[in-house]
Amino acid sequence: MADSASFVKPHFERVALIGLGLIGSSLCHAMRRADLATHIAGHARTAETRKVALEIGLVDTIHEDAASAVQDADLIIMCTPVGVCGEIARAIKPALKQGAIFSDVGSIKQALIRDVAPHIPDGVHFVPVHPIAGTEQSGPRSGFAELFTHRWCILTPLSDQKSDEYAEAVRLLTAFWQACGSMVECMDPKHHDLVLAITSHVPHLIAYNLVGTASDLETVTRSEVIKYSAAGFRDSTRLAASDPTMWRDVFLNNKDAVLEMLGRFTEDLSALQRAIRWGDGDALFDLFTRTRAVRRSIVEAGQETEEPDFGRRHKDLAPKEDSSD
Ligand code: NAP
Repeated sequence: MADSASFVKPHFERVALIGLGLIGSSLCHAMRRADLATHIAGHARTAETRKVALEIGLVDTIHEDAASAVQDADLIIMCTPVGVCGEIARAIKPALKQGAIFSDVGSIKQALIRDVAPHIPDGVHFVPVHPIAGTEQSGPRSGFAELFTHRWCILTPLSDQKSDEYAEAVRLLTAFWQACGSMVECMDPKHHDLVLAITSHVPHLIAYNLVGTASDLETVTRSEVIKYSAAGFRDSTRLAASDPTMWRDVFLNNKDAVLEMLGRFTEDLSALQRAIRWGDGDALFDLFTRTRAVRRSIVEAGQETEEPDFGRRHKDLAPKEDSSD
């Protein structure tokens, strides 16, 4: 792990962000809070997002095309869905400045590197990144400066880049993310995709499936699902409300690792089915005890709070006075 206590805060003259949704807009706020850039240039696909980004002061300049946003930029970060990163890299290639650092925030790394690396010119340093921080919200208004605070951020530097300049780019980007509040670690891209398959991708898939099954129930039952939704279902709906484009791209681009983890998951689910069928309470109790300890470890590691009832703030839940007649 990079030592967060000893980094020197970097400052970039011009940072270009392609994509100004949850992650892009949070980066704008975090960069401004830590004074990491003199000028933030932005580009997003739609005129509406570009208008909002300028209106709420996310960026200093907004650009209709990505190539003009990255002109003269010292640091470029693609904050778009994974599936379009290759196409964007191809389009902005001629505008990239020699010596610039080129990066991304994509949730999967192997397929993204495969699609993007061929478009990066010599003398531009491509350092892939994945901040393990997010919410189910999206769009330019959803960002906030604290999103990355105390969250891990994984860098997956390219193994064929051995120059001192590349090592310096990795060092600068590490310090950049630390200044945004993250704890930084480097990882091999294949290993990253495997780890994230079980900690993030499969849980989302299970949530999408669970909520999908509930919404396919008969209409009467479905209204009861909403009305009587218990904590387990409510929490799954939060995951299942995540951005459809982002998650479609994650599953299409991390196929092998997700399928491998789903195979393990299905075997374990069958074992649970068997334990229920044969009344094997000990097996169920043992598993539930082990899983409770995992939760405790995550809280102890500072990645979750101990707040009860799935994060609902109890003080907000007082019965409302009935104002009707
Ligand atoms: P988001 O809120 O939906 O924002 C995506 C942004 O990309 C929008 O500004 C969108 O512009 C822009 N965009 C889409 N296609 C584009 C194109 N072809 N050219 C230019 N801009 C384009 O998504 P997000 O949650 O910030 O996710 C962005 C990236 O972060 C994804 O790669 C995701 O894997 C990664 N990530 C997400 C999370 C999370 O929890 N959300 C966590 C870690 C990493 P418009 O608004 O104009 O459509």
